[in-house]
Amino acid sequence: MATEEGNSTDSWRALPAAQQPEWPDTRELDRVTAALAARPPLVLGGECDQLRLRMAEVARGEAILLQGGDCAETFADVTADAVRRKLRTLLQMAVVLSHATALPVVKVGRMAGQYAKPRSSPVEERDGMALPSYRGDAVNGPGFDEAARTPDPERLRRMYEASAGTLNLIRSLTTGGFADLRQVHAWNQGFVAGSGAGERYEEVADEIGRSLDFMRACGVDTRDLATAEFHVSHEGLLLDYESALVRTDPESGRAYAASGHLLWIGERTRQLDGAHVEFFSRIANPIAVKLGPNTASDDVLGLLDRLDPAREPGRLTLVVRAGADRVRDVLPALVEKVNAEGAQVCWVSDPMHGNTTTAPSGHKTRRFDDVLDEVRGFVEVHRALGSHPGGIHVELTGDDVTECLGGSGSLLAEDLPYRYETACDPRLNHTQSLDLAFQLAELYRD
Ligand code: PEP
Ligand code: MN
Repeated sequence: MATEEGNSTDSWRALPAAQQPEWPDTRELDRVTAALAARPPLVLGGECDQLRLRMAEVARGEAILLQGGDCAETFADVTADAVRRKLRTLLQMAVVLSHATALPVVKVGRMAGQYAKPRSSPVEERDGMALPSYRGDAVNGPGFDEAARTPDPERLRRMYEASAGTLNLIRSLTTGGFADLRQVHAWNQGFVAGSGAGERYEEVADEIGRSLDFMRACGVDTRDLATAEFHVSHEGLLLDYESALVRTDPESGRAYAASGHLLWIGERTRQLDGAHVEFFSRIANPIAVKLGPNTASDDVLGLLDRLDPAREPGRLTLVVRAGADRVRDVLPALVEKVNAEGAQVCWVSDPMHGNTTTAPSGHKTRRFDDVLDEVRGFVEVHRALGSHPGGIHVELTGDDVTECLGGSGSLLAEDLPYRYETACDPRLNHTQSLDLAFQLAELYRD
């Protein structure tokens, strides 16, 4: 959308944009994006600024980021139950992490906009037939037939509506008592009581309970603990959609991506001369970039110069997804380069995307122990270099799915077919997510 100074956020259009769908009818795309440009923003600039301040605390080592949700949200899963369970899982994890680190946890969902996926191949071949790959509900359908796989711009409108519905529910739940700290603690007690690792986690849960009793005894007004600050994020992949939702803040005159509070650039679209980096350089939101195991220090320097030229803490988050076997080798050079630049970024570990394997049954999966080990390596590197291990970015769901292996439920490869429901990558289930929080609590307290 044009801003008052001219088309300043449209400069990406002149550059190569990786991972964009081949829309069959661009007039239809234009019609949908014009309609979206006239709709209300999903988030306001002021809220994005507030998250940016929180992220500045993460950058300075005064807070921890917990970012999580589905690999790919689906339109079918925009239900009260599914959203509530995801939110509950994140709130439970946040209490455990906050207690362990004695720091505030900045809670950000991979929610209310995570509908578009980059793919390693533009086509999928099955039974001698080749069709466009599924690129997320924002683009096409997962069914393997011509009609489902043909990109349909009308889906962008549905993405906006699904995001609005999810965000509305999140706003209601986080301010309407669902996030009450005592309630969240009671859920954690229930989890610990039913967990195979019960005794191991009990100590942490008991300490949290005693802290809450102490606060009450001191006369802390617990009404203040009944609401939670929560923000939403997604990969800013589909530039036609993101562009249609840019809104200029009337007060500051700054342009924001109004589709979510924080947007990130994926590992496959972070080319310095590409359209995504250009678009992100023009919006004022807090932003993140994924960094895979082959990231060169100079790539990071280039990203800093393009995306955070003023070196403002809170503007840029670097999400490292190197793999448990590579993170200890790869990360030190990147951290040293950023430190040498005098930049204060948020360092975050995505322990999912570098640890994907294929089970004998053919299911894409991840081992809980690899996930934990990557975060452990990430924390070790930062401790050795004196920088802040700012948080985690994870793929999870509040449901009892069977997509990742291990955890306190000892999920086995033969269990995978029972509830393998993800639209894209394997997610930690509710139990495995809490296992991760409790085991990270031990790690952070060491
Ligand atoms: C993702 O977050 O689902 C993803 C595709 O990650 P990456 O860009 O790190 O591969
Ligand atoms: Mn993923």
